[in-house]
Amino acid sequence: DWVDFILFFHRIIDRFEMTKNLNVTFERYLPDEAMFVEIDQDKITQVLDNIISNALKYSPEGGTITFHVKENNGFIEISVSDQGLGIPKENLEKIFERFYRVDKARSRQMGGTGLGLAIAKEMISAHGGGVWATSVDGKGTTITFTLPYDSAQEDDWS
Ligand code: ATP
Ligand code: MG
Repeated sequence: DWVDFILFFHRIIDRFEMTKNLNVTFERYLPDEAMFVEIDQDKITQVLDNIISNALKYSPEGGTITFHVKENNGFIEISVSDQGLGIPKENLEKIFERFYRVDKARSRQMGGTGLGLAIAKEMISAHGGGVWATSVDGKGTTITFTLPYDSAQEDDWS
């Protein structure tokens, strides 16, 4: 379906903001104008649910989760950043493998199966986008993904 990604993303963030019980602040840096993309809404909802759940799971008390959306070279680029313990450089690519979890003992305590990001990667690839992680060990993690976006399309909608 064709959807305004900005409205779609705000609604998902709203849902997390209403139900979160941690002392975590959400900051949104989203464009004011609509950005239409062709996506499977259920699948991209699942992708964002996992990325945001992870960010909450690893956020410290009083931390901030930051949401960014921007256009970049024929893609829309979406990122979610937290201020949690981060991911060591050598594990940054492995977290997208099935069942991979950094520090098994710690992760088991946190709950989950280690499938979330592997599924997210598959779904994003099926949409023609990519996903990656950056992290400063001990200071936080950013998960970024892209979806094809044609800005010329906007003229047809206005
Ligand atoms: P599931 O999503 O299946 O419930 P999970 O959250 O452990 O389980 P993934 O979402 O695939 O699995 O994440 C894989 C691993 O990557 C996690 O177990 C964790 O070790 C690491 N990870 C993911 N997101 C973050 C984050 N924001 N901060 C720190 N580590 C993270
Ligand atoms: Mg997860």
